[in-house]
Amino acid sequence: MEVRAQFNEAVRNIAARSRDAEQYLLAARRCDSDTGIATHGRRLSVPEPGIECFVYTVDLQGAARAERRNAALHPNNTIVSPGIWMWRPLLGFDDEIVVRFELPEGLQVSVPWERIENLDNAYRLLASPQSGTALSIFGQFDAQIIKAGDASLRVDILRTGLKTDISAITNWIADTANNIVRAYGRFPNPEARIVVVPAGRGRGDSPVRFGRVVRDGGETIELMIDPTQPMQMFYENWTATHEFSHLMLPYLQSEQRWVSEGFAQYYQNVLLARAGRYTQRYAWQKLFDGLERGRDSVPELSPNDAAARDERNSRMKIYWSGAALALLADVELRRRSGGDQTLDSVLGEFQECCLPSRRTWTGVELFTRFDSFLDEPLFMDLYRQHADTAGFPAVRPLLQDLGVIREGNEIQMSDAAELAPVRRAMTGRDASVPDYDSPPRDR
Ligand SMILES: [Zn+2]
Repeated sequence: MEVRAQFNEAVRNIAARSRDAEQYLLAARRCDSDTGIATHGRRLSVPEPGIECFVYTVDLQGAARAERRNAALHPNNTIVSPGIWMWRPLLGFDDEIVVRFELPEGLQVSVPWERIENLDNAYRLLASPQSGTALSIFGQFDAQIIKAGDASLRVDILRTGLKTDISAITNWIADTANNIVRAYGRFPNPEARIVVVPAGRGRGDSPVRFGRVVRDGGETIELMIDPTQPMQMFYENWTATHEFSHLMLPYLQSEQRWVSEGFAQYYQNVLLARAGRYTQRYAWQKLFDGLERGRDSVPELSPNDAAARDERNSRMKIYWSGAALALLADVELRRRSGGDQTLDSVLGEFQECCLPSRRTWTGVELFTRFDSFLDEPLFMDLYRQHADTAGFPAVRPLLQDLGVIREGNEIQMSDAAELAPVRRAMTGRDASVPDYDSPPRDR
């Protein structure tokens, strides 16, 4: 790959994000001279007063061979992180880089950056939180556009040699993205990219083997799927809805990862019930079970402490204390406003002001902003009560009030409970949901 990099003014600090980038950089020189530019680790050795233009060559295939994910791919596809091939200055908040690819005939590119309209293969790269490492994909894959609310999202389904029903998978992704629209009527980031990697069967028979959100120059949802599983299994699986739900919050610093994970856990269940993929009872069973597991997990640690440590022993604490907080907040908002305000409406206002965000947030910043949408604050009170306190938020009485009644290990719904109408408003099936071929999951 040959890259020509031009800047509006002379720059000196040019680096690649990956430590491995140096070994794949074949040559670099100033545009106006044949003299090479040396590297020093991840940096280019650029003397004062800096350079305005340089060209360089990267061994893309060599770098791709080192990328584990490439092993499963069709040989025509090449995956390399931009952190390996992109040498650039650090981006300030107001900086942007326009990247334009000139591709050989028949080759496509997939990158997580903002598309520039009316210009082929051109993208705008802005500062971002850099959580995880983005993928750039060069090759031949199935590029689809799906509608989620008003947003047109790009879905790239890689060719891995496994038989994959592209239209069925695309429909499922569109359906999942529209689950998120059920929160506040819009998709949180109209520029998000979805990358689907069909892979063989994993452990167990989960149709979605792995999912994650990467925020690196743009937001990507990566899903590794088993295309041999029946489509009904995909629709009843929560992983993709969980990952998409993450986009409703910005990237939070690692100590508050319990907030990100908890809100996603909460919403995956609420949204799958609204979408008619879960019965209300099943959604609450999942919430109930998860909250109980969260209570049992490292009770001696606070959520902030648990999230700052190794996840292995405290996973349930991290995943469910934030869900408890989301539940407490949602019920209180609905109760005090008679349903005018909800966690959905707060997240909707937050999306309008602040998403997608180019930076990392703290929990305090996030909840202070949430409170700014309310006449009577709520979120910072909850945060102060729970973030640095050992134990687990008291949600059992609240569940009772909602009519989520425990009978042995199962729960039943009671419509006689005081807050049963609130519960139905949270997880009742949306009126707009069509009848599916198969009934919602209840067990
Ligand atoms: Zn998650």
